[in-house]
Amino acid sequence: MATFLIGYDVEHRDPVVTRHFLTAARHVHEDLDVPCTLFIVGRTLRHSPDAFAALVGHPLFDLQQHTETHVLLKTVYQENERGVTVFRGGSPDEVRADVAAAQRTFADLLGFRPIGLTGPYNYYRGLGDRPDLVQIVYDEGIRFLRTWGRNEYDWQPTPFFSPFSLAPLGFPDVWEYGIHGWQDCLLRHHVGWANLDGYFDRLRADIDRVVAADGVFSYCQHDWSSTWEDSEMTLTRRILAYALEQGMRIVGYAAHYAEQAAKTKETANERN
Ligand SMILES: [Zn+2]
Repeated sequence: MATFLIGYDVEHRDPVVTRHFLTAARHVHEDLDVPCTLFIVGRTLRHSPDAFAALVGHPLFDLQQHTETHVLLKTVYQENERGVTVFRGGSPDEVRADVAAAQRTFADLLGFRPIGLTGPYNYYRGLGDRPDLVQIVYDEGIRFLRTWGRNEYDWQPTPFFSPFSLAPLGFPDVWEYGIHGWQDCLLRHHVGWANLDGYFDRLRADIDRVVAADGVFSYCQHDWSSTWEDSEMTLTRRILAYALEQGMRIVGYAAHYAEQAAKTKETANERN
């Protein structure tokens, strides 16, 4: 069965934007009874602790982290029709400090430490070429990543792939999910923010391809972009409803990771 994962990067500096998004997203996900994951910037969490606390333990909302202040884990060397644009990553020490700070923010305000992390901007190959960085986030308790969200030009769309374990790198219990296709804000900007039909057509084509391949679609939206020119998130509702109609299984990242980890353990036990 093809699988659809939706993760929202929740990161806006204006708490009004974030809180409105949380209300709208809750309506959409509760109406359709489909789960999602929120990858939350620690600073954004600190601006609205009560709004996030209300979602702890909610069966449809899985809360994970997106660093404390949106420090890039790696430098992005983006090459597209506008030329080369560089977004510099933090140093390993800065990355460690920012991921650790977000873990503390979650522990202090929500009472738990996340096991999932989305890297700001995302990168070609994720952290697959940086075992030093995987070790840093691993030490902070991170076990699944959404960091491979760009192609070989550090641009998009990102090719579709199944989530995989970083066992070859020495981390069998760390999984990379990636962000496939386009991040919503880049494609919404490209087709025109008010052009909801045009965006839906693009997403429908991606969903159809993933369903035909019986694959996995790891899809990214943001708090601010999900409600831009679409205050009640009708576009998101339409995308999720379409994925359901096509028979896709919609699952949160943490739940999916738990399934993969259990399967890996089973296989290891069979071998022993
Ligand atoms: Zn972000």
